[in-house]
Amino acid sequence: VLASGTVLWNAENKSIGALIVLRDVTHIRHLETVRADFVANVSHELKTPITSIKGFVETLLSDEWNHEPDILRFLQIISQQSGRLNSIIDDLLTLSRLEQKGGLVMKETSKLSPVIETAIYLCQLQAGKKNIQIDCVCPEDLELSINAPLLEQALVNLIVNAVKYSEPDKKVLVLAEKHADQVLIYIKDEGFGIERKHLDRLFERFYRVDTARSRKLGGTGLGLSIVKHIVQSHEGSIRVESQLGAGTTFIISLPAGEPPASAS
Ligand code: ADP
Repeated sequence: VLASGTVLWNAENKSIGALIVLRDVTHIRHLETVRADFVANVSHELKTPITSIKGFVETLLSDEWNHEPDILRFLQIISQQSGRLNSIIDDLLTLSRLEQKGGLVMKETSKLSPVIETAIYLCQLQAGKKNIQIDCVCPEDLELSINAPLLEQALVNLIVNAVKYSEPDKKVLVLAEKHADQVLIYIKDEGFGIERKHLDRLFERFYRVDTARSRKLGGTGLGLSIVKHIVQSHEGSIRVESQLGAGTTFIISLPAGEPPASAS
């Protein structure tokens, strides 16, 4: 049951009662489970044939075959497209796993800076191709309760986007700081930026601002949806600020956790 309520006021600003609405959401929750199971099963079933297609096409592309130029071009297209399909299936499976865990993931107290550094390292190849420099500012001793591989994946998705949606020679900054009971992680780029009207829908599955450009740049349209699920599984939140032509900043907010008890 989903409950919401509001206080009722009269003209003299005195409360005269309360309105409480209770909604039975059993059916909606059931449909959500059916949808999630369906996506998980379909993705799982597609994984085996696509792995096989990829394997055979890679074999046909190896040097030992001497293909006609046209055949070689067609094989390269099949290889490219099956790689794309494989990435979409992998992302759908990741999303399904996160959903199946019901938002619960194993966490342990870890240092944040090595997680950020590994994520940046994994994006260096892509960044290097566009001569984009990625800087990191994070206090060495900043610790919090996280699932390190998952948070690393969320950061990789955001940094890859920052690189993808920027012109060459720009900079990306990943900055982390503790602010009261929250740890804030900023992923800031100097890229194309996003129009305000798109910002609310950005984290939806397959939502893309510029479909043609995003496809060309090789995304699946699921990256930000995965990031949002990962952040939520850490009881955190994510928001985005952007200015067209000036750049975009994604801000992850995670609970800092209890400060360690003092030794006295
Ligand atoms: P994709 O695989 O298409 O990159 P995402 O879910 O990662 O999918 O992102 C959704 C869309 O949000 C992208 O297609 C792009 O239009 C926009 N976007 C994401 N990150 C940025 C960014 N740093 N700068 C500009 N646009 C971005």
